[in-house]
Amino acid sequence: MVARVHPTAPSHDDKRPFDIDDVLARVREAVRDLPDAAMFALAARGHDSLFEQLVACVLSIRTLDEVSLPASLALLQKASTPDALARMSPGDIDALIQPVTFHEAKAHQLHAIAVRTRDELGGALPCDAQVLQSFKGVGPKCAHLALGIACGHDVISVDIHVHRVTNRWGYVKTRTPQATLEALEARLPRRYWVEINRLLVPFGKHVCTGARPRCSTCPVLKQCRQVGVTNPR
Ligand code: SF4
Repeated sequence: MVARVHPTAPSHDDKRPFDIDDVLARVREAVRDLPDAAMFALAARGHDSLFEQLVACVLSIRTLDEVSLPASLALLQKASTPDALARMSPGDIDALIQPVTFHEAKAHQLHAIAVRTRDELGGALPCDAQVLQSFKGVGPKCAHLALGIACGHDVISVDIHVHRVTNRWGYVKTRTPQATLEALEARLPRRYWVEINRLLVPFGKHVCTGARPRCSTCPVLKQCRQVGVTNPR
């Protein structure tokens, strides 16, 4: 049986070798005027402590930035330290983060993080991925992104956009975000480990979208292998 090919499906005849420096320079230019991802936007507004970044990341899980960013601001303006958040009740926290997905469970998780940080960790979170991931609700994505932004650690945070885009490029060939993290750690130059999330979240939301990516106007079309792309715009 002959496979049907979409009229704008990728041709691989005129592809160039993939050059990560050039690709990321092009992506950087493409996202220059797009809004930053929520945690980077919060850091730019001064909410750049490890605790604030972790709170924001928990709120962002399964929640659009457009929803999680205002909720993070509302909560952090009320309580930006472990001590202040621990003094709130989970119900009070919940009331401030109502639009966020799983807000009730997240309110309890955030309160527990604040109480343990105050009572067991001397009032401040350490820049330690294992400690961060020991909190309920905090996985590698959140721990890594918070450590990258707040502590300056070289760490890769793989969310759904980083996973999808790097696989479409053909830069990695993986089935899960965890496998993508390991593949990127083996291949991506260290200087891009924090920045790749900052670049690919807006790029994935606006250019290399989940459904019908905008390949015809994409600045990296010549180098991208468009793996799995069958119905581009
Ligand atoms: S939009 Fe298309 S060409 Fe651009 S990165 Fe995504 S799949 Fe590749």
